[in-house]
Amino acid sequence: MTDPKHFQQRVFTWFDDHGRKDLPWQQGLSPYRVWVSEIMLQQTQVKTVIPYFETFMQVFPTVEALAAASEDQVLHLWTGLGYYARARNLLRCAQVIVDEHGGKFPDSIEALEQLPGIGRSTAGAIRSIAFGKPAAILDGNVKRVLARHAAIPGWPGQTAVHRELWEIAGALSPKQRPAQYTQAMMDLGATVCLRSKPLCEICPLQTDCKAHLQGTQADYPGRKPRKTLPVRTTTMLIISNASSEIFLAKRPPTGIWGGLWSFPELDQANQATDFCLDTFGAQPARIEPGSALRHTFSHYHLDIQPLYLKLDQTGGNIMDGDGQLWYNLSSPERIGMAAPVSKLLKSIDK
Ligand code: SF4
Repeated sequence: MTDPKHFQQRVFTWFDDHGRKDLPWQQGLSPYRVWVSEIMLQQTQVKTVIPYFETFMQVFPTVEALAAASEDQVLHLWTGLGYYARARNLLRCAQVIVDEHGGKFPDSIEALEQLPGIGRSTAGAIRSIAFGKPAAILDGNVKRVLARHAAIPGWPGQTAVHRELWEIAGALSPKQRPAQYTQAMMDLGATVCLRSKPLCEICPLQTDCKAHLQGTQADYPGRKPRKTLPVRTTTMLIISNASSEIFLAKRPPTGIWGGLWSFPELDQANQATDFCLDTFGAQPARIEPGSALRHTFSHYHLDIQPLYLKLDQTGGNIMDGDGQLWYNLSSPERIGMAAPVSKLLKSIDK
């Protein structure tokens, strides 16, 4: 294996010249800010995260403020970032930090890993960046750099490959400047060792990077064995009333889009009139199908057929606060919504 000191030296020299030092969570550094940023950065790029992070910090400047929030408030600020389990865990974790840790984040990997939503790599990032203590990380970007540098074959989702990459990550992590090293490795993966066209000519690791020397960068990390995703279908009822408000219902707390607000869904479009009679005691005055859209989850495609229904009445017998509400497009409620729901609402808005 490559000499860790030599590896670290090159990473640090590169970081001093090219690493990112002006990210919002690097300013006013605190475990709370680092933790929120790390959770947002899971599966999401820095440029997408920045505006969400800034709004989040304005609304919840401390872990205590976040712990006191409702799930709806948190999901509302998360709308569009995806992977909503992260937001629900974020709230639960803030509550545990306040209730069980006196509002202070622990700094050991073991204690951090006990917290909701914090895995080993996120724990390493928090410990190294927020506390300046040595810890390895292995997020998606770092996996790519290390798998290419040492030419580790196989898909990192496989236990043996995953373990090998962790061993390398641990062996290469320095005792000195752990925060900069963590940031540098994330930056190298995000800005130089790009997924499809790595910029090896400007990479500090090119002299002993096996994939670069062999010209096999595209082979690493190995791909997940391909599976054709199944397709499911659903009909979403976009019901408007005489005041042009849209009917939304809160989804159950677990499962797809758990706790988010959505349109009612039916398996069959021809059940729409019965749904309106049962829910509002009235028939829709108009029913029109909209253009279908596809939303892809990690394990299936969901083909959504929107059906626009117009009621002549105003409120119907719907009580707000009962897991159902009439959504006013001109003064929208602060609630969390699944991405396709927010997209469909925006299309009505226009
Ligand atoms: S030399 Fe190329 S493939 Fe190797 S780590 Fe650097 S950018 Fe990635």
